[in-house]
Amino acid sequence: MKSLTEYLTFKVKTRRAFVNITSDITKLVSKSKIKEGLCLVNAMHITASVFINDNESGLHRDYEKWLEGLAPHEPTEQYDHNKTGEDNADAHLKRQVMGREVVIAITDGKLDFGPWEAIFYGEFDGRRPKRVLVKIIGE
Ligand code: ZN
Repeated sequence: MKSLTEYLTFKVKTRRAFVNITSDITKLVSKSKIKEGLCLVNAMHITASVFINDNESGLHRDYEKWLEGLAPHEPTEQYDHNKTGEDNADAHLKRQVMGREVVIAITDGKLDFGPWEAIFYGEFDGRRPKRVLVKIIGE
């Protein structure tokens, strides 16, 4: 079995953002030279997500509105977690909803996506470097 492990670092300038990382992952699949296998991509921070969905800006604005409705950032005093001195309780909750990781099949040397699928890094407490783990295994 072959494997490739890489860590990508993202430093988003805003508190929240969605970053399309599909091309980063595609390059790593090529680098791995694996033809049949699995590709795991996971956020290594508990206030960021990796998820798969449509690369459509309207949908991304809808996510932002929907997540702010579920877990508004302000007022920060509404959250028990923020009594520890942090202000990112909403980011933990948003991460829980958007998920930690994705696993994508590799078929014939390529990510085997469904129609319109793309991979995103979801940042909910940005402005500092955060890592994403990519592990590819197979033959
Ligand atoms: Zn926190």
